[in-house]
Amino acid sequence: MTTPWEMYKQLDTPEDLELCPCCGSAAQLWQYSESATAPTSKVICCENAEQFGPQDGLVNGGCLLYMPPEGFYRPTLREAVKYWNEYAKALTSQQRARRWEAAQVLRSNAEVNRNER
Ligand SMILES: [Zn+2]
Repeated sequence: MTTPWEMYKQLDTPEDLELCPCCGSAAQLWQYSESATAPTSKVICCENAEQFGPQDGLVNGGCLLYMPPEGFYRPTLREAVKYWNEYAKALTSQQRARRWEAAQVLRSNAEVNRNER
């Protein structure tokens, strides 16, 4: 998409960004503006735009956080980084806990099956 202004402009990536909680890719900092005169906002996005798995078409390719939802758009860099990092840490720890729990269930099922043999 071409606009007379830069709707999305990539800025230097801050150092302290968490990896993408969905796919583990690095994250990038972008500046977003609705129009040439609108106030800008900052957003941290996953850099993974690669088509994978069952995805088809360029538009639908990539990580879910390549184009993150509205909540990731913040008025300042500091807030955008804070939002991304808190989101990433929370989601990663949820995922870790749930996978661990699921693995425990598998393990105890395996134990039961072994004892029944
Ligand atoms: Zn990602």
